[in-house]
Amino acid sequence: MSFIVGIDGPAGSGKGTVTKRVANSLGLINIDTGITYRCVALEVVNQNVPLENTTKIIEIAKNIKIDIDNTPNGDIVYLDGKNVTKQIRSKEVTSIVSQVSSIKEVRFIMVDIQRKLAEGKNVIVEGRDICTYVFPNADVKIYLDASVEERAKRRYKENQEKNIDMTYEEVFDNIKKRDENDKSKEIGALKIAEDSIIVDTTSLSIDEVVEKIIDIIKLKRS
Ligand code: C5P
Repeated sequence: MSFIVGIDGPAGSGKGTVTKRVANSLGLINIDTGITYRCVALEVVNQNVPLENTTKIIEIAKNIKIDIDNTPNGDIVYLDGKNVTKQIRSKEVTSIVSQVSSIKEVRFIMVDIQRKLAEGKNVIVEGRDICTYVFPNADVKIYLDASVEERAKRRYKENQEKNIDMTYEEVFDNIKKRDENDKSKEIGALKIAEDSIIVDTTSLSIDEVVEKIIDIIKLKRS
């Protein structure tokens, strides 16, 4: 029997950082589903495929081989055997990933991969549609949120630490556009599941959010 915690929320809501810390603290395996869409988007960039060419993008998704090495220092991502951990966070990938992930067939293939990654394990899975679509029967469902300004500030700081070259304005615009696009997807749109617990992180520190989520999970697990 596996135990599944689903964490949904928009870009910059703190999902990534919080999920990894909660996973380490509770001995859960962390699955970042955004990685799967970013890998497809990276291949689209590398092969110079126009976004209108959905047939080609679906073919890429069908043939892609994604491996994620869950290390204590973060995920190492391999695409067809090549380490692409940094490339999947590039400006080019970030600017098209939401459109790539809007293609229905791409989502079906990625959701399949995501479910397989979690099979039989105790996991904490982060994304946009985890509690509504990928794992509607998750044991714990959480929706993390924060104001768009706060999320852009966080993502800008994170990018600087990772040497990703984007101005604050670029980050802000990208987050706003991705929010709009992610919320209006035909399948797997970003939305709050009816039974999700909403945690607004705008004025909370990472430590406070981590603590809050650990408490929620422990309560459900006991
Ligand atoms: O979480 P992250 O920002 O890395 O996700 C990148 C993009 O992948 C999101 O903007 C969204 O368009 C897409 N995504 C998705 N469903 C998920 C996870 C990510 O559509 N479960």
